[in-house]
Amino acid sequence: MENHGYDVFVASDGLEGVDIARQTNPHLILMDINLPYLDGRALTTRLQSLPHLKETPIVALTADISDGSRELALAAGCSGYLSKPVDVDKFPDQIDSFLQGKVQQLDEKDHSRHLRRHAENIVEQLEAKILELEYANKLLYRLDRMKSDFIVLASHELYTPLTLVSGYSNLMDEHLRQDDEQVSLEQTREVANLMSASVERMQAVVQEIMNVARIAAGRLELSKGPVQIPHLVRSVRKALKDILKQRNLTLEVEGIETLPIIFGDGSHIRTAIYNLVENGIKYTPNGGIISICGKVSGAGVELSVRDTGIGIPQEEQKQIFNQFYTLGNVDNHSSSKSAFEGGGMGLGLTIASGIVEAHNGRIWVESSGEDRDALPGSTFYIWLPIGSADEAESQGNSRQ
Ligand code: ADP
Repeated sequence: MENHGYDVFVASDGLEGVDIARQTNPHLILMDINLPYLDGRALTTRLQSLPHLKETPIVALTADISDGSRELALAAGCSGYLSKPVDVDKFPDQIDSFLQGKVQQLDEKDHSRHLRRHAENIVEQLEAKILELEYANKLLYRLDRMKSDFIVLASHELYTPLTLVSGYSNLMDEHLRQDDEQVSLEQTREVANLMSASVERMQAVVQEIMNVARIAAGRLELSKGPVQIPHLVRSVRKALKDILKQRNLTLEVEGIETLPIIFGDGSHIRTAIYNLVENGIKYTPNGGIISICGKVSGAGVELSVRDTGIGIPQEEQKQIFNQFYTLGNVDNHSSSKSAFEGGGMGLGLTIASGIVEAHNGRIWVESSGEDRDALPGSTFYIWLPIGSADEAESQGNSRQ
C-alpha cells in the first residue's frame, strides 16, 4: 500500500487501533478479525460509534473464512470483506474501490439475523472479559496483601535480632563501666558471641531479601563449577544439627553419596537444599523424620526432601513457590526458623525455585493435602541437569 502512495499506520491490537484511528483520522481501515482483547467485529462497531469515523469504510481482512464469517463482519458494520492471503496485484484496486464508496451488503433478513449473532458475540466477549478481570483483580488483591504482610514479616524478622543486639550492647557497656575484676573476659566474650549471632541472623535476612530481588529481576549470578552434592548435603546437615536435636527430628540421607558431580553454582544449590530441609523441619512436629534422597534421572540428578509433617493443601501447591507466599496468618508468625510452624518471610521456596530455574532445572512438590493430625507429609523434588565443564565455563558468571 505504501508503494501505491498510501500512508499506512499499523496497530498491533484493537485498543491501539482505536487510538491510532482517533489520532490519524484515516480514509480507510483494514480490520483483522482475530485480535487480542476485542475482536475485529466488536472493534468495527466501536470505531463506527466515533463521530469522525462514522463514514470511514472499514474492510475486514481476515484468514477466518469459516461459515458466516463474512456475513458477521458485514453485519458488524464492515463495508467489505477480503480474505487473506491477499492477492498482491489486485489488492490496491480492491482498496481503491472501497475508497470510492463500494459497499458489500447483505439482504435485510440476513443482516438482522447476523446483527443479532454479532450482539450475542459481543456480550459473550464481555462476559469472558469480566471473568478475566475478576480473576486478575483477585490475584492483584492477594499480591497486594502478600506484599503488606511481607513488610510486617520482614520488619519482624529484623526487629527481633536488632533488639537483641541493642540489649547486648547495653550489657557490654555496663561491663565496661564496671570494675575490671568483676567482669571476666569470658563473660564479655560470651556477650560478643551472642551479639555476632544476632548480626548474622540479620545478615541472613537481608541476604534472603537481596536474593529474591535478584531472582525477580532475573539477575541471579551463577558462579558455575563442579559441584559435589554429597558435600552440600553434609554441610546442610551440619548447619541444622542443633535444631534437629532440639526438635527431636531425624534426618535420613539416602542415595546421595553415589551421585555424580554436576556443574552448577554450589553455594546457590546448597541454599536451595537448605531451604527445603529447613521447611521440612518447620512443618514437621517434634519426633518426625526428614529424608533427603538422591538418584540419577535422565541427564540430571533428582533430589527429594521428604518430611512427615502437616502436608500442603493441593490447591496451594503451585502458589507456595511465589514470592511472599506464606500460608496461614501473619499474626501467628514467630520469627523462629526452627520452631514447629515458625514463620518465615515466604521467600524460602521462591529462592529455591529461582536457583533451580537459573540452572535450567525443575522444582516441584507432592503432598496429598494438609492434615495436622494424620501428618501426610510433603516431598519436594529438585531436578538439576548434570551439565558439562564446557557449559559451566561458557555460562559461568555470565547469567545477568
Ligand atoms: P516461609 O518462609 O513462609 O516458610 P517458603 O517460601 O519457604 O516461606 O514456603 C511458603 C509456604 O509453603 C510456607 O508458608 C508453608 O505454608 C508452605 N510449605 C513450605 N514447605 C512446606 C513443608 N515442607 N510442609 C508444609 N508446608 C510447607
